Amino acid sequence: AAVESAPAIVVGSGYGASVAALRLGQAGIRTLVLEMGRLWNTAGSDGKVFCNTANPDQRSMWFRTRTEAPLATFLWLDVVNKDISLYPGVLDRVRFSDMSVFVGRGVGGGSLVNGSMAVTPLQSYFAEQFPTVDTAEMYGTYFPRARAMLGVNTIDPAWFESTEWYRFSRVSRKHAQNTGLKTTFVPSVYDFGYMQREAAGTATKSALGQEVIYGNNFGKKSLDKTYLASALGTGNVTIHTLEKVTGISRASDGTWVLSAERIDHSGAVVETKQYGCTYLFLGGGSLGTSELLLRSRQSGTLPALDASVGAGWGPNGNTMLGRANHLWDTVGANQSTMPVMGIDDWANADNPVFAEIAPLPTGLEHWVSLYLAITKNPQRARFSYGSGGLSLDWSAAQSAVSSGMAKKLFDRINSANSTIYRYDLFGTPSRVFADDFTYHPLGGCVLGKATDNYGRVKGYSRLYVTDGSLVPGNIGVNPFVTITALAERTMARVLVEDTAP
Ligand code: FAD
Repeated sequence: AAVESAPAIVVGSGYGASVAALRLGQAGIRTLVLEMGRLWNTAGSDGKVFCNTANPDQRSMWFRTRTEAPLATFLWLDVVNKDISLYPGVLDRVRFSDMSVFVGRGVGGGSLVNGSMAVTPLQSYFAEQFPTVDTAEMYGTYFPRARAMLGVNTIDPAWFESTEWYRFSRVSRKHAQNTGLKTTFVPSVYDFGYMQREAAGTATKSALGQEVIYGNNFGKKSLDKTYLASALGTGNVTIHTLEKVTGISRASDGTWVLSAERIDHSGAVVETKQYGCTYLFLGGGSLGTSELLLRSRQSGTLPALDASVGAGWGPNGNTMLGRANHLWDTVGANQSTMPVMGIDDWANADNPVFAEIAPLPTGLEHWVSLYLAITKNPQRARFSYGSGGLSLDWSAAQSAVSSGMAKKLFDRINSANSTIYRYDLFGTPSRVFADDFTYHPLGGCVLGKATDNYGRVKGYSRLYVTDGSLVPGNIGVNPFVTITALAERTMARVLVEDTAP
């Protein structure tokens, strides 16, 4: 196959990849971005780019015949998931033996499907997780830069107190306060000005129209509207879609050679391509980058990778659960899909948990308070690559550490409010805690272990990791602000030290 080359190639188009693409483009370096998902810019027959959670169609999930939403049932009925046809949809659920991982697919990666919560971690916990990183510089320069570029904003507290769309949050806040727990507002990349217009009936509903995990048609500042739009604006960045990078090798002249498969909308491989570049940036996310590196080591093309590649993986302690409220504590039929509040018990050294108050927007009163708890679970796992593809040695016992921590916190909340858990949400009646999936895959190519202190892959030059695989398994809050800020730090350093002529 003919080799197409560019000075720099970026694999993927999520947070880490988008930062790399923009900063390379601004530095005048011609850059090619290779993304396995599609570009989400054309409307379907319903006039919309994305489908909502109430009526999912082929656009919802990555090559599935049935949706696989995190909430399997409601009142024990299998009403949540729907049959769909095979298509490169926007949300993927990658199943390992005891853990499944949700990831976004498309130009913008996870930013297309996530809950927009833009949280900066506690400085002391960041320092604990990244002991070799200059935290003063991170909090003085790179976190503010990331937040500004991502378009982070906060909800107007007066509107929050008055709108029916956040009644579910206020009810959960009251129950936390009754328990003596602290709650905090969570910043977002969803435009709250737009959301207020949705509520007023002057803008098309998106967050208020049950759109989130299968994409938002309006209101959300996903990466295609921020970093990637700016990257394309430099004139130096090109994005190829529906192309999956399958291997990396090094040519004798020191340049990188990539193999890639281009697929059509049925998933069939229609072309095998080869690319060449001088600088290679990996932004395929924790799963994508780990798979690519391990696969290349397995096939013998990257033999010098550090032994720690694949290690240090964790699900950010994720556990989802629901509580059943008293009949008088209605959560509201109308709920915004964008969470804006968390219960912050991270300072509790015996059981650190940060729990987001999550919506369950069904359009009906259901008395459920739903939460996504982030726990300080110290357990870690390792990826490996073999004939069966990528595997992960995370176990159910390791998940039980997360749900055990969540249970400790929510047992207190239930006891203070005389409430109980909901048993009907996660498939089987005995399941109260969904600790077998994560929205926050972190690690596999940990900063300072598999890479140097700036994301340069050990054993090779001009090969960089810029995504969530750098984060050692847990960061205590939703991770995309951290991933973005670390990528900004890497790019600032690399563009000064590595790419000067
Ligand atoms: P990603 O954003 O995962 O991007 C990787 C991209 O690379 C993808 O587009 C993928 O298709 C592509 N790719 C992978 N491998 C290859 C390959 N070999 N070739 C070509 N392309 C490839 N985080 C928050 O901070 N706040 C939230 O509110 C929040 N809510 C979430 C809700 C959901 C439903 C999900 C799934 C995640 C949520 N997250 C949230 C997590 C957040 O989205 C991720 O942490 C973040 O997207 C990870 O960024 P990344 O740069 O590591 O990679």
